[in-house]
Amino acid sequence: MLYHSLENHKSLISFERAVLRGLAPDGSLYFPEKIPFLKKELIQNLQKYDIDSLAMEIIAPYIGKEIPEESIYSIIHNTLNFSFPLRIIHDNIYVLELFHGPTLAFKDVGAKFMAECLSFFCKKIGKSVTVLVATSGDTGGAVAKGFHKKPGIEVIILYPYKGVSLLQEKQITSLGDNIYALEIEGDFDDCQNIVKKAFLDKEILEKYILTSANSINIARWIPQMFYYFLSYRKIREIEEENKELIFSIPSGNFGNICAGMLSERMGVPIKCFIASTNINDTIPRFLKTEKYHPLSVKKTISNAMDISNPSNFSRIWYLYKKNMNQLRKKLFSYSFTDEETLSIIEMVWKEYKYMLDPHGAIGYLGIRQYLQEEVKDPLTTSIFLETAHPIKFIDHLPVSLRKEISVPEQFKILLGSKKRKTIQIPNTYNIFKNWLIERRS
Ligand SMILES: *Cc1c(COP(=O)(O)O)cnc(C)c1O
Repeated sequence: MLYHSLENHKSLISFERAVLRGLAPDGSLYFPEKIPFLKKELIQNLQKYDIDSLAMEIIAPYIGKEIPEESIYSIIHNTLNFSFPLRIIHDNIYVLELFHGPTLAFKDVGAKFMAECLSFFCKKIGKSVTVLVATSGDTGGAVAKGFHKKPGIEVIILYPYKGVSLLQEKQITSLGDNIYALEIEGDFDDCQNIVKKAFLDKEILEKYILTSANSINIARWIPQMFYYFLSYRKIREIEEENKELIFSIPSGNFGNICAGMLSERMGVPIKCFIASTNINDTIPRFLKTEKYHPLSVKKTISNAMDISNPSNFSRIWYLYKKNMNQLRKKLFSYSFTDEETLSIIEMVWKEYKYMLDPHGAIGYLGIRQYLQEEVKDPLTTSIFLETAHPIKFIDHLPVSLRKEISVPEQFKILLGSKKRKTIQIPNTYNIFKNWLIERRS
């Protein structure tokens, strides 16, 4: 499979190059040259496939011959080694739980998949690669865990001093080995600025092969299509009739929902998607007013979605040929406040004994709003994605509910881990740069 950037369709590059580069040199995102369409028999007989071979059918076409089939298979096998249960909440509303991985968030799949691919390419080119990543919390944890002890790769994570939760800090700092945690005396934007500058710094690039691990990298984006195929398979086992299927996705950088829209193009029968956001509502406003106008980021309790200019939306816009009418047929988008989020968490616990985290709660709210506004047909089946375990956001949940949250094994392990000595760096680019250069001289 070849990839082009969204700005320049003429120059095509391989999966390997696109993974190693992350962002295209013109500053836009990579996109597959063509979208494979899967055979109807395959879609109708998904039950016949086990998890690994199902994922193989979906993901392997996006890699092509650059990685031998057996290696793709083992990459997939190592990535999808935890469960993805689909549970009913009530009536025709289901939740797909994506939080059973090592860091209790759905980013585990993309991070692990990318680590495995990158490790394969490092071995192939015989060079070591440095992953440089700025994090406001969740990404850092998933990347640290996914890349830990991967041969040929080192990871440098910049995170804001006192800007992440204690648990997130443990996730980033406790592993050691090839994972370097840098505490920056600044906020997330400062970390992000340092990283961006480093990617353009010739002196650094003489000594390092740098890549990023944020959600724009195709190796983090592509494997998420698996969730939608899997949901479709599971729902067909439960629901006999041919009901229409809709998805609501709690969205921040819009990578996950964009993977869903790609899987629909590959043949999964999905009626439409709901992008559910917190009050960082650039996309719901865009769909309403046709004006793309990001405001400054507002802090919320669903903080993994505190993003006002979602990078992956450019992929969705491209997928719909920049045609608003086409897009509006497939994409609905609603935003919700912290108050609405908290009260729906309480309601769902009280009525259905299901504990939502703030992100999943916004997904559920999106379905309710859509059903109210758009659907009179009781034969619609809805699925929302639960992207993190509620224990990760326990400090944001209503006090009365906190004791009700189950404590998963991964969490106990993490609580027991110790923060290692981190490297503290003032918020000054040159100090960071000198640190980076000196460790290679
Ligand atoms: C990253 C994240 C999201 C947003 O996903 P995008 O693909 O960036 O839209 C939602 N929920 C949680 C818990 C996350 O960590």
